Amino acid sequence: MPRPRPRLLPGLTLAALLALAALCAAGCGKEGSPPVKGPKPGQLPVYTVATGFSLPDSATWRRARSRGHLVVGAKEDQPYMGEKDPATGAYSGFDIEIARMMAASLGFDPKTITFRTIASANRETALQNGQIDYYVGTYTINALRKKQVGFAGPYYTAGQSLLVRKDEKGIDGPGDLAGKRVCSAAGSTPLQRIERDYPKARAVAYDTYSICVDNLLSLQVDAVTTDDTILMGYAAKAPDELKLAGRPFSTEPYGIGVPRGDTALRLALDDAIAAHERNGDWKKAYDATLGLSGVPAPQPPAVDRYPAG
Ligand code: GLU
Repeated sequence: MPRPRPRLLPGLTLAALLALAALCAAGCGKEGSPPVKGPKPGQLPVYTVATGFSLPDSATWRRARSRGHLVVGAKEDQPYMGEKDPATGAYSGFDIEIARMMAASLGFDPKTITFRTIASANRETALQNGQIDYYVGTYTINALRKKQVGFAGPYYTAGQSLLVRKDEKGIDGPGDLAGKRVCSAAGSTPLQRIERDYPKARAVAYDTYSICVDNLLSLQVDAVTTDDTILMGYAAKAPDELKLAGRPFSTEPYGIGVPRGDTALRLALDDAIAAHERNGDWKKAYDATLGLSGVPAPQPPAVDRYPAG
């Protein structure tokens, strides 16, 4: 028997929903709905910090070494991928674990990383300006971006998908978006694809996907589009309000962004990704983060050590 669901309140935000979910986490889970839980520190792998590691050909590495720690760009509002706890300031998620593994391989204690939140539209500038040493945040590798930055990886393959309200019946794929308001992040590949391939959709852009989700909950837009990894996180945290619709309709290989000219850093990170996939860290990190949304760990894609140029 379907349960009657409370109607959405126009003022309801994702933050309010998550606060409610946190209150409920101890005792009010319902049968059939995924548990609301985040990465637990005890379940996360501990990465062995490389001793005596040196990368003299990398200007980025040398600068970090003299600074004493790494500065890494990330997302802060993508559950299970890159999320910042507003109370403690701590970052967690699969991308954050990838950033930590990389730090350990470069000879830095992952605990000393300074994370900086950088929105999708600002990633290339942050890397070009030296604001961050590298970036790990659902960052799709593509030819256009490779003209501006370098990419180690890929370390995961996502796919563009759609998030809708639980009671939505009319949207089951991008072909159903004509005349619908579809929200995505400025500077993202999903926004570009909707504008290019589905021009009848009414695309709406904000800085972050969490603003899009707030707009979906308050009935301002009809769908949110971005990678399934990100949308699964929102859906798993608000299972009574949100669901994914249809199947992924793109391939988004995730890379670690580095300054474009720093080939030494890029190749060192390629080696590090492959090493952490081989020694089991990658899978342990996945299981403790993105795996909580219910999808078992896939086989990671092969890293692409493309030539400098
Ligand atoms: N992977 C896509 C991109 O890099 C969407 C996710 C994001 O905006 O970070 O544009």
